[in-house]
Amino acid sequence: MKILIVEDEAKLAQVLQQGLKENGYVVEWAADGPLGLELAKSGSFDAAILDVMLPGLDGFEVLKALRKSGSAMPVLMLTARSGIDDRVRGLDLGADDYLSKPFDFKELLARLRAVTRRPQVELLNTLAVGDLELDLHRHEVRRGGRTIDLTAREFGLLEYLMRRKGIVLTRAMIMDQVWPSEADYGGGSNLVEVYINFLRKKLDQGSDHKLIQTVRGVGYVIQEPG
Ligand code: CA
Repeated sequence: MKILIVEDEAKLAQVLQQGLKENGYVVEWAADGPLGLELAKSGSFDAAILDVMLPGLDGFEVLKALRKSGSAMPVLMLTARSGIDDRVRGLDLGADDYLSKPFDFKELLARLRAVTRRPQVELLNTLAVGDLELDLHRHEVRRGGRTIDLTAREFGLLEYLMRRKGIVLTRAMIMDQVWPSEADYGGGSNLVEVYINFLRKKLDQGSDHKLIQTVRGVGYVIQEPG
């Protein structure tokens, strides 16, 4: 698997390159935004690790231009520790996940694996998170064998969360996917929160483990407990 690193701090870039190589990745490094964008658009990488603060073009500009060019390459953004706005902005622009500096290398590897995981959609009829199963063909949801009745909207929201299991989704991303017509009007709609709460009530009933987690100031993620 081939990874592009776009990072201007040479020392960090070097550590990343070495660590990724030791884990079997092929790595290329760009030290500024314009070169990073050019390489990213080449289509020869499986994923990119993209810093926000970069000379030439910043990480947001690189990401925006990359998505505009039609590339769906998974992008993991590196943000400042306290930069909640940065995280939200990155995710809204089409980043697949983010990591705050300083980070643990093991976490980077885990997130890289998550964003490069191929969608299972084509092959599987069933999405699963822990003991929760969503059957796409039969339109059924079960948790620990118990069947859960969902409305069409709740089902759509849950399907979107489960397809992106382990990845944090902002409210704007969820609005775009699940309520595309309302999303155009923007504004202070709390539809997402309301429906997340509906889902939680139905999914977590009789279970000790909450599957949908809130990432404060950013959005929501569904993942296996523990
Ligand atoms: Ca930087």
